[in-house]
Amino acid sequence: MNAQGVRRVVVAGGGTAGWMAAAAIARTMGRAVELTLVESEAIGTIGVGESTIPPLVTFNRLMGINEAEFMRATQATFKLGILFDGWKDGSDQYFHSFGNTGKDHWAAGFQHFWLRGRELGHVAPYDEYCLELTAALQNKFAHLPDDRMNYAYQLDSGLYAKFLRNLAEGDGARRIEGKIAQVELHPERGDVAALRLDSGERVEGDLFLDCTGFRALLIEGALHAGHDDWTHYLPCDAAIAIQTESVRPAAPYTRAMTHDAGWQWRIPLQSRVGNGIVYCSRYLDKDDALERLLGNIEGKTIVEPNFLRFGAGARRRQWHRNVVAIGLSGGFMEPLESTSIHLIQRAILRLLRMMPLREISARDIEEFNDQQMQEMLQIRDFLILHYKVTQQRDSAFWRYVSDMPVPDTLSQKIELFRETGRVFRKNDELFAENSWVQVMMGQGIMPRARHPIAEKLRDEELDTLLATLRENVARTVSQLPDHATYVARYCDGTGAR
Ligand code: FAD
Repeated sequence: MNAQGVRRVVVAGGGTAGWMAAAAIARTMGRAVELTLVESEAIGTIGVGESTIPPLVTFNRLMGINEAEFMRATQATFKLGILFDGWKDGSDQYFHSFGNTGKDHWAAGFQHFWLRGRELGHVAPYDEYCLELTAALQNKFAHLPDDRMNYAYQLDSGLYAKFLRNLAEGDGARRIEGKIAQVELHPERGDVAALRLDSGERVEGDLFLDCTGFRALLIEGALHAGHDDWTHYLPCDAAIAIQTESVRPAAPYTRAMTHDAGWQWRIPLQSRVGNGIVYCSRYLDKDDALERLLGNIEGKTIVEPNFLRFGAGARRRQWHRNVVAIGLSGGFMEPLESTSIHLIQRAILRLLRMMPLREISARDIEEFNDQQMQEMLQIRDFLILHYKVTQQRDSAFWRYVSDMPVPDTLSQKIELFRETGRVFRKNDELFAENSWVQVMMGQGIMPRARHPIAEKLRDEELDTLLATLRENVARTVSQLPDHATYVARYCDGTGAR
């Protein structure tokens, strides 16, 4: 450790994780730390990661980023949620939106009132009470007063990293181009002392952020922090990504379409579309996966396919000694709910809250690891839900995932909802009640009962409530502009928000 305490922060790796971390630390800590980032153009980045969730909007705001400038630089479109194709039984569709549905009572979610409405003969789907969902399916978008439209972005994460690099360098971060050849450990303390580069240069530091992607050079390669394997719950272990020309105006949502050994994404950016197939290599080989992907894309391909292998799981200690793993080095879960960039953001904000001063505290490390792992486990349960409750049985892959035992925490959530219609957000988990309700009902779980409070309203009062809520959504959406037109105007700077 430097005589002045923890002053020298070294970021190893310059993908989305490395540059998000560097930009946030440089902007937040300013001259209080000396920040260096080492990256290797020869190694490059993973080159995928396009769909995000709403907290990224907050991250960008915290960084003081101008949204239109950011969207121009990253080819971003707005995202209101994900359209899931075929997850219930192979031929269905449902939408997981970023919005709230209807109006909750403090004691009971809106689903209880909607269920009572069904008993009274109301036939309008649950979806029609959600502004973001209805807007998405009509390809509409606008910023609304008081952030009434909850959104995220679909973006080119490589361009986002470049954009953040400019910010970070502008805020004083130093970048070194070079390949890390060796991670030097301190002979007595056993923590990381320096990175030795191919060129012979030594980069010393007090705190190191491992953003080296799946390689995890510091946290695993040097410090052996350990890895929890979750592939028995999330067996997909391969993907092929490819980009295509746009053939239609960009939709404000991502699509996740099942196939018989996994699923496929489609993410529309301003100028192109990101596509990819995620699959389990036990049930589908690479050539067949590529053929399947190429058979289900729209428009001409504009890059060569990018073949990727991964395993679901998390680094057991994401902060170990003086190394914090951020990004893929800390763990990975398939991009079904677009949570990886979010986990990067969470790790960075946590670290900023626990930034060491004189020395690294073992209590901070424990707290950080506990919070980070808790959040990953909650996301893991939510992803497993999509597979576990499927009614698809016509391939070995879908039979495996629907038969597999799942964590008790998840079984409790599913069965509680099935029996009572209730779902609870625990420990500030990322996906709130309405996300669980949308996915569970979308996948065909209809509660057997509902909260008695829904009977508090007389039948006519409930009729009026449901009609008013639905009309409000329909009226607001009818006044919204077309999404692609709005994006073009917004990014041009010619259209007011
Ligand atoms: P990388 O991009 O791999 O960066 C690693 C960095 O370390 C690079 O700069 C590299 O040069 C450097 N490096 C490595 N070794 C060395 C060395 N020896 N010397 C010097 N430098 C080195 N996330 C989402 O949020 N949404 C999505 O839709 C999404 N889709 C995905 C789809 C797939 C198939 C996969 C696999 C991931 C997806 N992700 C998604 C995750 C997302 O891609 C990553 O979380 C994100 O890109 C961060 O990656 P990273 O920076 O940790 O690693």
